[in-house]
Amino acid sequence: MTMPLMKPRRKNPVLRTPQMNLPPWARGRTALGMTAAAAEGRFELQVCERCAAVQYPPRDACHRCLSAELAWRAQSGEGELLSETVLHHSNDPFYRERLPWRLGLVRLDAGPTVIVHLHGDVASPISTQGTVAAAPAASGEPAPRQPPRPPQRSVRVHVGARLDRAGAAVLIGFPPEESEHMADDKMLREMASDPRFRKILVTDGKTAVGQALVQALVKAGAEIVWVGHAEPWKKLPGLDDISALAPVTLVPLDLSNGRSVVELAGEIGGKVDIVVNNAEVHRAFGIAARRGTDAARAEMDINYFGLLRLAQELGPALRARSADGTTHAAAWVNLLSVYALSNYPPHGTFSASKAAAHSLAQCLRAEMRPSGIRVINVFPGPIDDEWNQNLPPPKVAPAALASAIVKALKEGIEDVYPGDVAQEWLERWRENPKVLERELSAGG
Ligand SMILES: [Zn+2]
Repeated sequence: MTMPLMKPRRKNPVLRTPQMNLPPWARGRTALGMTAAAAEGRFELQVCERCAAVQYPPRDACHRCLSAELAWRAQSGEGELLSETVLHHSNDPFYRERLPWRLGLVRLDAGPTVIVHLHGDVASPISTQGTVAAAPAASGEPAPRQPPRPPQRSVRVHVGARLDRAGAAVLIGFPPEESEHMADDKMLREMASDPRFRKILVTDGKTAVGQALVQALVKAGAEIVWVGHAEPWKKLPGLDDISALAPVTLVPLDLSNGRSVVELAGEIGGKVDIVVNNAEVHRAFGIAARRGTDAARAEMDINYFGLLRLAQELGPALRARSADGTTHAAAWVNLLSVYALSNYPPHGTFSASKAAAHSLAQCLRAEMRPSGIRVINVFPGPIDDEWNQNLPPPKVAPAALASAIVKALKEGIEDVYPGDVAQEWLERWRENPKVLERELSAGG
């Protein structure tokens, strides 16, 4: 059984901060299909369109009929553990620092046999109850000299795909049923950014989404949650409830003001493990509905430049601490919008600012990757807040959005599309971005 994670001791400030070593991450173009699915929390394998064979590892042609018509399809991941091994030695710096490491060979019910990182709660397929004697020799022949074989037992596992510290898809063998403290498994914590015992900055506590996020992070076991508050002199609804929670500290933070960001980074930059940037300005205008550029500038100033200021000031500290013990710096979450994929004309300038932020977040992700810091981009559909009052349902409730973000941290998901609208837009956008653009210009 997994031992529950204990609250880590304070770091000795005299000790040198270790540098991050990443697991091997080079993948071919075809194999990146598995990474693309894992980034959204799905386990997909190639399935032949012609003979229905499921294959692993990913290849350019079907291993059975050589057809090139291969499609990525979600897999149940059910299978049987054939064998396991524990690494006690590795030439790879990442694994060398984390030994011993458990690996397994799993035959999936769908067909292929895969190598997985094995969760500590999966039983061993080798029975410890006695050994099987060597087969008796046929009469007249000398007995073959074989060492006795331990008996095997059938162990079911559930295989899932996760992104490792380098952001590449790897397969993990989980026990078929959820076990206690399952998330505290040492190997699993390397693949995710569980908020438990971590120190987290939420950049805006004044919105319903910000407050729901703080509640959800505290519930998930965060040690400290700093909550940004742009106008500390103002009394805002809901803020008192949040600040009454034990791990919460309100901090002055105005992302439109470079000095405010620098001051906060100077104060807490060396301690933050997870940044959740949820600050946004949202006005419901297109181009023609309003004269001048002030509203569009305000959106750009928070949604795009705010992210840039925050990343410049907090990014280096986070990168430097990515290998720092059990609760190392781990993740950066950006609250974007599904309007970042394709412009929604009634909220035209807001969409444009989120598209800019999305592009910048991709840059941030590339820069954070060598340190193993996960950048999670969240693309909700319309949120049930004051700026979407005129939109008909379905809308994402702030609490649902917050729990989707916590789930993404726990499971190491990189791209999150919470809610029915976001899911539907994503599908339409993937199918044909041009068709979606035309549909949106006609009102959705
Ligand atoms: Zn085939």
